[in-house]
Amino acid sequence: MHNAYFHYAEPKNEPVLNYAPGSAERKALQQALADLKAETRDIPMYINGKEVRSNSQKEIRPPHETGHLLGHFHEGTGEHVKQAIDAALAARQSWADMAWEHRASIFMKAAELLATKYRWRMNAATMLGQSKNAYQAEIDSACELIDFLRFNVHFLTQIYNQQPLSPQGFHNRMEYRPLEGFILAVTPFNFTAIGGNLPTAPAMCGNVVVWKPANTQIYSASVFMEILLEAGLPAGVINLVYPSGPTIGDICFKHPDFAGVHFTGSTGVFQTMWKTIGENIANYKSYPRIVGETGGKDFVMVHPSANVDSVVANIARGAFEYQGQKCSAASRAYLPSNLAEEIKEKLIAEVRTMKMGRVDDFTNFVNAVIDEKSFNNLAKYIDGVKNSAGKAKIICGGNYDKTNGWFIEPTIIEAMDPYYVTMCEELFGPVMTIHVYDADKWEDILHVVDNTSGYALTGAIFAQDRYALETMTKKLVNAAGNFYINDKPTGAVVGQQPFGGARASGTNDKAGSILNLYRWLNARTVKETYVPVTNYRYPFHQAD
Ligand code: NAD
Repeated sequence: MHNAYFHYAEPKNEPVLNYAPGSAERKALQQALADLKAETRDIPMYINGKEVRSNSQKEIRPPHETGHLLGHFHEGTGEHVKQAIDAALAARQSWADMAWEHRASIFMKAAELLATKYRWRMNAATMLGQSKNAYQAEIDSACELIDFLRFNVHFLTQIYNQQPLSPQGFHNRMEYRPLEGFILAVTPFNFTAIGGNLPTAPAMCGNVVVWKPANTQIYSASVFMEILLEAGLPAGVINLVYPSGPTIGDICFKHPDFAGVHFTGSTGVFQTMWKTIGENIANYKSYPRIVGETGGKDFVMVHPSANVDSVVANIARGAFEYQGQKCSAASRAYLPSNLAEEIKEKLIAEVRTMKMGRVDDFTNFVNAVIDEKSFNNLAKYIDGVKNSAGKAKIICGGNYDKTNGWFIEPTIIEAMDPYYVTMCEELFGPVMTIHVYDADKWEDILHVVDNTSGYALTGAIFAQDRYALETMTKKLVNAAGNFYINDKPTGAVVGQQPFGGARASGTNDKAGSILNLYRWLNARTVKETYVPVTNYRYPFHQAD
């Protein structure tokens, strides 16, 4: 029983280490990479705090070095999903009853472990399993995940402090209960931080969780689970399982105690989930919360007054960092005819300097795409340009090779038609399409930017003319949930740019912000009257 109110001050963002030659962090990371590569990890599921193994093991290999075996994970079945739900529901009451400062300490300790003891192992696992370079791993699996944990503790404390008015004679209170049932967290391959945030945000609010990561992120997800258990997460609060997507959906979405889904991944999968939940709506004890952040077709709109060098640098980073496999990656750019030739020339020259290869060679800027399916999909779009009968042409890159890993060369397509397929569809790889428009009619192209795709995740505008910036900001008001002025559309930082998109890009519940946490809470209002009335009559209905 506590007798004081506890506060968690707004944290500072975790500093990003730079891994420059000769630095201590570079040495530590290289050692962690070597250690992990020397092991063949046997990765279990975690149900009710225990390691669970199955009869079916699947290989894990680095996307950039498919000849090397990193380990195996134990594939889950429907039976494992049921065990995970049962374990979660059994843990629910004690977890929901635990005082906030004790719940908070578990996640603060996990952040601390990640920032110190586990930083190198976690970054190395992300580099090897998901083919990220050292810097991309650092900003994801170390800094962003640490920030998610610390900022969410701070935000949840703010929510718990929000209380209604109490006029004299009454006390009104708000309790922020967890949801009744279990939460399903389904996470994508491309960010270890998202993998960690989607189960922990609801758990922090007192909920119990079944967590299914993408198969291609299990290698680093399991390291985070080890950290959570070391931080003292009680058995059953988060249960990590590896069944197929349809298996988990089939069981969880039919369960009467299903209370919500926290999803990040593709739009198609999210829409299937929503439909299935709708079909089962009468079977649930409560209306499930549906939170999903999905795909994007993120734009760069360049005004005739833009600074060429900043456009070039930001397209180069925005489109090709992490091989364009960020939901926020720049994937279509609109260049004004007065600047287009200079931008193209400089951009091509820059992209040609990007070295591609394995992650343990730190001179590589670009690594491999995640798997064979993605490789084949990207190759199909590149081949499509080659056969597009002049509608589009490749002006940089365009080669691919799967001899040692899933390597797609950073590629720039120029589309004559602003609605060419690669201007409209999410490709999710290092392939960027540009379209040159008439600089004298720059306002006309804004309509095209706005309606070319169903997504509205991120977008960037570049200009030096302030009136133009204002016009573009207004006209593109619904085109992106994260809108950037003279900056690349990637790299959102927790606490600085709350992240999420609208339209087909998701429910825009802004991961890592206070808005997201409200979705995992079920408020109860309590009114207490100090001296209750003893007579039902009011003055107005007394006779004159
Ligand atoms: P994906 O949709 O293929 O997979 C996401 C997760 O859903 C995985 O765990 C997968 O196993 C699971 N899944 C697949 N089919 C399922 C089904 N029928 N039922 C239940 N679960 C199922 O996405 P991905 O390839 O891992 O990630 C890339 C996608 O994620 C891109 O579209 C990208 O834009 C999006 N993304 C969005 C954001 C954002 O914040 N908006 C962030 C990261 C990634």
